[in-house]
Amino acid sequence: KKIIVTIDGPAGAGKSTVARAVAERIGLPYLDTGALYRAVAWKLNKEGIAPDEGERITKALASFNLELRPGGLCADGADVTAAIRTPEIDRIVSAYAARAEVRDALTGLQRAQAANGLVADGRDMGTVVFPEAELKIFLTASAEERARRRYRERRARGEDVDYDEILKQVVERDSYDMTREIAPLRPAPGCIILDSSDMDAEAVTDAIASLAVE
Ligand code: C5P
Repeated sequence: KKIIVTIDGPAGAGKSTVARAVAERIGLPYLDTGALYRAVAWKLNKEGIAPDEGERITKALASFNLELRPGGLCADGADVTAAIRTPEIDRIVSAYAARAEVRDALTGLQRAQAANGLVADGRDMGTVVFPEAELKIFLTASAEERARRRYRERRARGEDVDYDEILKQVVERDSYDMTREIAPLRPAPGCIILDSSDMDAEAVTDAIASLAVE
């Protein structure tokens, strides 16, 4: 069935793990919209364009070639799948994501992916991009649990990480995403709020997948 499932929520709630698993379980494409915002931040930062330079942003994005590949992302021909997952991008992405020039460009790209239905995760999937989605989830967890998950992920990748620093960054990024003027992070009307603090990824996947096939 060509349905649209949206999964929004704060950083580290487990959205991408769960969205990918739900998509596979019910046979729909998966769209990681955070990766798109990260790729834009990567590009603009690389070109020395600051978040407040609206005109330069519009110009740079007009010729930006962003290609979605299964399991990866190409920006202007370069594979940026790893380059967009750095602490530096974590730190700068929200300031670029708050700009209308950036959001307008990506909203169209996201809608264009939905022809065969999809599972999309992000911050404004249910509120702005796909308000008519058949199933809208707001996936959250306590800040401490979300920081713990990020910490474990990074440690597993062999990175040298500090839990308190990660917690501070997660809280900062959420407050930035929740208080911006355009498309602030909040539960969409009609969404189901799921707190995953005491659930593992499989339990959350089961819950969402069974709601999706109802
Ligand atoms: O989901 P992820 O942590 O990769 O998202 C990175 C950032 O991109 C978020 O903190 C937010 O600022 C922005 N974002 C957004 N809208 C989306 C997805 C991500 O503003 N739909």
